[in-house]
Amino acid sequence: MTNLAKVNNTLAERAVGPMMCLYGQGVARGYAIGRVVVMGATALEVAHYRIGKDSVESEKLRLSQALKATQLEMQDMADTLPDDAPRELAALLSVHGMLLSDPLLADQALSLIEHKHYNAEWALTTQGQILGEQFAAMEDEYLRERGSDVRQVIERVLTVLSGSCSIMSLDHDGNQDEPLIVVAHDISPADMIRLRGARFAGFATDLGGTTSHTAIVARSMGVPAVVALGHVRHLVRDGDMVILDGAHGTILVNPSEAALQEYRRLQQAYRDERAELALLKDVPAETLDGIPITLHANIELPDEAELAMANGAKGIGLFRSEFLFMGRADLPSEEEQYLAYSSVVRTMQGRPVTIRTLDIGADKTLDGEATVATNPALGQRAIRYCLAHPDLFATQLRAILRASVHGKVRILIPMIAHIHEIVATRAAIASARRELDARGQAYAQDIELGAMVEVPAIAIAIEPFAAALDFLSIGTNDLIQYTLAIDRADNEVSALYDPLHPAVLRLIANTINAGVRVGIPVAVCGEMAGDAHLTRLLLGLGLTEFSMHPQQLLDVKREIRGAHSNALRNKVANALNRAQVIDPAELNH
Ligand code: PEP
Ligand code: MG
Repeated sequence: MTNLAKVNNTLAERAVGPMMCLYGQGVARGYAIGRVVVMGATALEVAHYRIGKDSVESEKLRLSQALKATQLEMQDMADTLPDDAPRELAALLSVHGMLLSDPLLADQALSLIEHKHYNAEWALTTQGQILGEQFAAMEDEYLRERGSDVRQVIERVLTVLSGSCSIMSLDHDGNQDEPLIVVAHDISPADMIRLRGARFAGFATDLGGTTSHTAIVARSMGVPAVVALGHVRHLVRDGDMVILDGAHGTILVNPSEAALQEYRRLQQAYRDERAELALLKDVPAETLDGIPITLHANIELPDEAELAMANGAKGIGLFRSEFLFMGRADLPSEEEQYLAYSSVVRTMQGRPVTIRTLDIGADKTLDGEATVATNPALGQRAIRYCLAHPDLFATQLRAILRASVHGKVRILIPMIAHIHEIVATRAAIASARRELDARGQAYAQDIELGAMVEVPAIAIAIEPFAAALDFLSIGTNDLIQYTLAIDRADNEVSALYDPLHPAVLRLIANTINAGVRVGIPVAVCGEMAGDAHLTRLLLGLGLTEFSMHPQQLLDVKREIRGAHSNALRNKVANALNRAQVIDPAELNH
């Protein structure tokens, strides 16, 4: 029996534990009922997708070949070791060689491909994680240290796998076995994007906040998610049955039959509610007193524009272009960006498409660029980063300008705090235009330029900014973070992250009122805009343009159609004047 087999036997059969409820923060509505897949950091960093039945053999072959190639590579290294190489090196290579051929690594990973239809990378990292955890639990120090050997070996095989691509067909929904719910310590926004193809039924993490970008992506995928669960990763195990309630932020582990039945009923009721809402797609977004409201969509990746159209969006109010840059080793070229932007513009068929320039920094980092700033949320983020990297900025601006020939494009600048940043951005756009002129490439002449209002300074001194721009879009996620000094991704302070704080509401009102005075449109594109509980409050603040994830558009439209805008404005103005805390539930009467 191999060492790995011994380890495995010690932890073999586990009894199903008692029912247990864990409480966190629900960040994406809906119910998921399925089996847990625990993912560690390495497992999250690889692609995840379910392959179709007809690809199982080719995917197994891909993994076997990668294992073999890695073994040969190690053999070759061992054979060519110089005579004076340390003796430990030869021993290490031989341990790694043994691990590669151990059935508990190779056979189990191949079996995950065969039975669960995982792609090769996912199967390998899943099995590696299981072994790593088993080694970590060993009493014998020598065996405990073998955990790092497993990690190193897997890294090598992943490198070899990255040189081959899988020729696979994807599993379609009906072909999948039980739904899977990802449980992880944390999931970065880039990892979340990688998980999109696998169609997981839910996400649960130890860390995270309501407006962290991870939560935002989960919402945009329409996948129920609960964050800030504390130690969920250690309290559940692979294969556990769980019920995830994304509205109330709970996870029920090993649910009883009665609980399963009740949640299946709730799940069906939720689906019925969504189906009923779908009937609102083509009706106008208008309040009871006849005020027309513009509903736009937020997207992270180009293919979400289809979803925006399917939910009746009148345009894209926020295209978070940084998601094209994340989770990859290189930067997207001008051509790649042009194709991405123009595909959205074409899908939206003449409706406005607001492309936000790269907002990298804080919790959204480029691969390979370690965060060195002491406080990245206050560091070289967004427009600050772009102005400090003029070539990267120019490439993006040329791509956006070129996409403008296919429809109505607007440019939105994130994290503006100074007028001179607007001046510098206009100069960069003018220079990008000149470069396109020199190449003879076309672009629209009348592209509007707007800014995110997310740094409190500009919401306070808004007039000159409104005068210098064509439109404003309030990013409440950051506006709240910076006004209240609360890290939006930190679950330890999330109870203090308060969209209803009178200071926040005053900043929003100040910005909306300045837009009316100067005569430019003002939207809210932060998560407040998509929270149907806050729709009446925002109408009361005078907001007439909302931008949110496509999945939220119809909930908000339903609220708008039942609201009386002028009455709400009076109520909210009175409360604001007295700096009173407003209870949104009271605005329903
Ligand atoms: C915001 O800050 O509210 C916003 C919409 O931008 P992001 O969430 O991408 O920072
Ligand atoms: Mg922001």
